[in-house]
Amino acid sequence: MTPDLPAARASALLTIDVGAVAANWRQLRDRLGPGKECAGVVKADAYGLGIAAIAPALAQAGCRHFVVAIIDEGITLRKLLPEAEIIVLGGPWPGCEEDFAEHRLIPVLNSPEQIAAWRALCARRGPLSAVLHLDTGMARLGLTPAERDALRPEDLKNIPLALVMSHLACADEAGNEMNARQLAEFREGLARLQKLLGRPLRASFANSSGIFLGPDYHFDLGRPGVALYGVNPCPGSANPMAPVVRLQGRIIQVRDVDSPQTVGYGATHRVTRRSRIATVAVGYADGYLRYLGNKGCASIGGFRVPVVGRVSMDLITLDVTDIPSPLAHAGAFADLIGPDHDVDALATEAGTIGYEILTSLGNRYHRRYVVGTP
Ligand SMILES: *Cc1c(COP(=O)(O)O)cnc(C)c1O
Repeated sequence: MTPDLPAARASALLTIDVGAVAANWRQLRDRLGPGKECAGVVKADAYGLGIAAIAPALAQAGCRHFVVAIIDEGITLRKLLPEAEIIVLGGPWPGCEEDFAEHRLIPVLNSPEQIAAWRALCARRGPLSAVLHLDTGMARLGLTPAERDALRPEDLKNIPLALVMSHLACADEAGNEMNARQLAEFREGLARLQKLLGRPLRASFANSSGIFLGPDYHFDLGRPGVALYGVNPCPGSANPMAPVVRLQGRIIQVRDVDSPQTVGYGATHRVTRRSRIATVAVGYADGYLRYLGNKGCASIGGFRVPVVGRVSMDLITLDVTDIPSPLAHAGAFADLIGPDHDVDALATEAGTIGYEILTSLGNRYHRRYVVGTP
């Protein structure tokens, strides 16, 4: 958890708009349409933004289904939301099935072994809901088509199936033919299971980007994560989501450089004109990825300023030569993520995706949760 760092002393301010998270959830729910349900994926501490603030805000917006990756995230969430349905993607690994039952967590059963262990638990404790995962093209988790076809009704005896699910590999590329192939595979698997068990089953397929692939991909429950947090689920098109995160780094020194010299470790940036270099108290230890050296940009007073030199553990250096000089001074802030430079822009500069930028956000920030622009 973040230490309670007072804003006045903070090296950086991380502002998280929980109102925007709730608005993004409502938008996705509305996109799924009537009769469908929308979960909230809050794994990895709500993508680095803080599950303790995010999950209750989603619940207040009307979210009833929550998805986490591992059992301990589920136990944390259970304390926050005593009534919510909590699905754990990784499922129970050997020996922790009882913990799932105790904390009323719904496991995703990903393999014949997990199914057998859950069936044994249900034989001891009575029927306990689970989700069945069919792999349709990730080769990561879930039953293979062969394992699915080998299932007999007695394998699922006493296991009430809350859902059958699968996961898309290329949902953020609307034109990728993989999407339609996985959809066909999922429909086939679902139909076979329904026939095997002789009853209709609820299904879940779409992550954030999958919701934007259209109604064919929606099934009964959407599972958006990253779009809730303002990352663009439709790369290449305008971002339909409301921005959630602002990260402001404190300028702690501004240096006038009037003779040729270099900036930072490795002397990778050479100053060749009269320049002003602003040093900001954020570095790779704070999740500002080292790859951003000589590649990233920040924004001061609406002016774009480049990162020059390498990213240090606790510092970055910005070339502020071309902006009005009163804007850059010790104590002022530079927007590292903000209205003029969003998570996706920073991710592109870092050669990565918004998911990694958010889940890397560090612990030395003063974090504040707001509803709407402060
Ligand atoms: C992380 C995850 C999601 C959410 O994905 P986003 O792309 O963040 O919307 C949904 N389903 C599964 C299985 C996941 O692992």
